Amino acid sequence: MTVVVLLGAPGAGKGTQAPMLAEHLGVPVLASGDLLRAAVAAGSPLGREADRYMSRGQLVPDHTIVRIFLDQLKGADAATGAILDGFPRTRAQAEALDRALAEHGDRVDHALYIEVPLEDLVERMASRRICAANGHVYNVATNPPQVAGRCDLDGSPLVQRPDDQEATVRARMAQQVPPLEDVADHYRAAGILRTVDGRQPIEEVGADLVAALASGDPAQVGPGEPGSGS
Ligand SMILES: [Zn+2]
Repeated sequence: MTVVVLLGAPGAGKGTQAPMLAEHLGVPVLASGDLLRAAVAAGSPLGREADRYMSRGQLVPDHTIVRIFLDQLKGADAATGAILDGFPRTRAQAEALDRALAEHGDRVDHALYIEVPLEDLVERMASRRICAANGHVYNVATNPPQVAGRCDLDGSPLVQRPDDQEATVRARMAQQVPPLEDVADHYRAAGILRTVDGRQPIEEVGADLVAALASGDPAQVGPGEPGSGS
């Protein structure tokens, strides 16, 4: 089983890279938002537990998120592994994941960090435009529409979401980047962190991620070897 944790700040390109990496490895992407929504929709005990927090606007506790991910990792779809996207989000979650995987003789094999400097991230997100009708995504700098201000697919006006305005982006980064760095440090200390320059074109970031997986990990001595834990 190959467990890959994909790390990156909002806007770093994880959502684009995760499916490509998944196809390369032949494993599913387990994305935290999707899993939480699916668990809630399924009405499972874990989903109901998560929903109690989310419906109050609270964060779902670490132990609940870890169990939701572990359930998926034990499923048939993930028999050969998975790419984790959006989890672990904090050092505590990373440690809980290590412990839980170690119980089954598994470990996180690779942590891949798509690094993009803060100012580039802010510029990227502030350049994002969404079509008002169907939510098609454009970027006035890197992926502009053929006609300025109009969606190529349906002609509806392109707007900037309040979430993408610079002050909002900076506030979100200030909240999310420090714990992300903690998680990266956790995997760096375990000797399994590989960083990739996320400022490159999408194809090159993808190629670097694949190369990082193949670059080997001296700490990895074979399947079934538990991680270093906390
Ligand atoms: Zn559109």
